[in-house]
Amino acid sequence: MTSRWTIPGSGLYSIQPIRSKDLFEDQGDQGQLYKGQIFKDKQTLRGVVGLYALEERFEYKVRRSSHTRFAATCRKKGCEWVITAGKLKHGTYWHVKSFVKEHTCGDSGNYNIDFKRVSSYVIGELFARKFADPRCTLRPKDIISEFRDEHGINLSYNKAYRSKTCALHKAFGDPWESFKMLPSFFYMLEQSNPGTVTKIETDSEN
Ligand SMILES: [Zn+2]
Repeated sequence: MTSRWTIPGSGLYSIQPIRSKDLFEDQGDQGQLYKGQIFKDKQTLRGVVGLYALEERFEYKVRRSSHTRFAATCRKKGCEWVITAGKLKHGTYWHVKSFVKEHTCGDSGNYNIDFKRVSSYVIGELFARKFADPRCTLRPKDIISEFRDEHGINLSYNKAYRSKTCALHKAFGDPWESFKMLPSFFYMLEQSNPGTVTKIETDSEN
């Protein structure tokens, strides 16, 4: 006996490939943004928008950023470059709702950007893949020279240091998240071993 599975209404849907992951697998795809694009979460979306602007040499401004919406425009007044994105109903996925690629500000491409505005987070995104490799021993000064060679941008030591921190978080997760788990771990320990006294000492920054 053979049976066939049919999902009611499946013809109404088209499944979009999830591309956010490939963005960091394939360097050639890094500068891509398009309508309908799906990202695994909002952080990834923000990182990719930042990298896009960096590649295209223009400055953008985040106009809206909430739990469900994101919108950014070109920083030049009146320019029509815009990207809007929204969270999908289920999961953590975000998708690009509209994207106007062309600048009407007239001087897009290779104009002077105040690169102090490129966030450490965006630079961290660029280097996260390298740090995921255990052989990687990039120091802040290596980040500075690599960024100068590849993008023609001078970073301060502090920015390179913060970027490295962001890249490590991206590659290995936030260490604070693991520390936050400690109190509930001790609670479980006390519950299963009556008589155990646990104490957590914290410094002034908690
Ligand atoms: Zn513009």
